[in-house]
Formats: sequence, structure tokens, C-alpha cells
Amino acid sequence: MRRPILAANWKMHKTGAEATAFAKAFLPLVADAGEVDIVLAPPFTGLVPLAQTLGGSRVALAAQNVNPEEKGAFTGEIAPSMLVEIGCTYGIVGHSERRALYGETDDFVARKAAALLAHGILPIVCVGETLEEREAERAFDVIGAQLRGSLAAVPDERASEVVIAYEPVWAIGTGRTATPEIAQEVHAFVRKQLAQRFGAAAEAMRIQYGGSVKPDNVDTLMAQPDIDGALVGGASLDPEQFARIAKFESSGE
Ligand code: PEP
Repeated sequence: MRRPILAANWKMHKTGAEATAFAKAFLPLVADAGEVDIVLAPPFTGLVPLAQTLGGSRVALAAQNVNPEEKGAFTGEIAPSMLVEIGCTYGIVGHSERRALYGETDDFVARKAAALLAHGILPIVCVGETLEEREAERAFDVIGAQLRGSLAAVPDERASEVVIAYEPVWAIGTGRTATPEIAQEVHAFVRKQLAQRFGAAAEAMRIQYGGSVKPDNVDTLMAQPDIDGALVGGASLDPEQFARIAKFESSGE
């Protein structure tokens, strides 16, 4: 059984004080959530205040990005060991905004994922096609290539520690969600690709869906056999909405 993972990607939202206020409101709301992993990914400046507020709770901390190098002349970057020191359990890599706005390649994403694993942090590796690619019927080619490239440096024996987030770019922040059927079709494809790469370990790998996940669509998405969680942007900024998402129907069974 794969343990569901519901992760909040706050992007460039919330100061440290706002992150703390969120956590104080959020923790009581998810105290009775089911057997799920709940993760908050604030901006870098929110990591330390959140670590203090979440310490000892059931909610884990994630970074939104990392540099694969150990240290050095990389102005503005954060090394994996710095995330370990703060207490990050997860790190998001390859988000479509970083690929599109900052030119991140599959090769760079692969190095980030491997660096996180080397430091004991679980990577959440994002993949997903643009609207243009979907309309040109290239979605599966694009996602397959992203998976091969971004997972190239994952050691076989560490596969089960990697989380994949399928996030169709056309559904991110647009209010337009992939139907559960479209999402399931892609998730099944992703799992097949993972099986080709990692063999039986693919069955244990968690695949999140991301793209306008909200309280009113999470239940049907999570009911799909290959959807093991959600990576949530907009709706994760509100403690009540994200708590409802973390407590999706059937999560308590
Ligand atoms: C995201 O940024 O990963 C995301 C899925 O955003 P939203 O939920 O706002 O579409």
C-alpha cells in the first residue's frame, strides 16, 4: 500500500510570520487526519520559523528548490546540507515554473534529485506537459523524456524514496483541473515508465497529481488507483482548504 502524500507548494507566498500563523491554525485541523503524509513547502525564509512551529508534529517540511552542489560560489543558492540542518524531509525539484522561468533542464533536475537523496531528503520530482504539447498529442513523449532525464541519477535501490508529481502545466494555477480520467491515464503511464526504469519498486513509488487541486475535486482525484497524493498550490495557502484536502474522502479508512 502506498501512503498518500499531500504537499503544499506555497511558491513565493507567506512571510515567516504568516507561515507560523498558518501552522498554528492548521495543526489542530489535521490532528485527526488519516494515515497520510502532510507536507508544507514554504519559501526558504519560512523554513526555520515553520520548523519551530511544526517540530514534533505530524506535518513535514519541504524545500521548493535546492542546488546540487555541496558549497561554493553559487550566489543566491541553497545547498542540501543546509536543508538537512533545518529539518527538511522533502525537496521539490523540477517544478514547471522553474523549468519555464529559470531554464532548468532535466539534467539539472536529475542532479538535484540525486543530491537530495545523498543527504537523506526525499525528492518530489515534477513532470508535466504544456497545453501546446497536449494538443499536439505529445504529452506522453514529453513526460516520458522528463522522467528518463530527471530520474537518470536515482540509484535503483533508492527508487521507493522518490515521489513523482504529475502536473500538467495547463492546469497549474488556472482553475482548470485534469479530469480524474485524464490524470489516471497519465499516472498509469508514469508508473509503467517507472517500472521500466526501476522494476518492481515502481509499485511502491508515490505519484502525486498537481494542478488546481481543491477541496471539491480532491476526493475524485484521490479515488483513482494510481493517484497517490496531491501537490497543491493556490488552495494550500488557506489552512482550512488544505486541511480538507489532507482529509480527502477515504483517507480515514
Ligand atoms: C503547483 O504549483 O504545484 C500547483 C499545482 O498549483 P495550483 O494548485 O495553484 O494549480
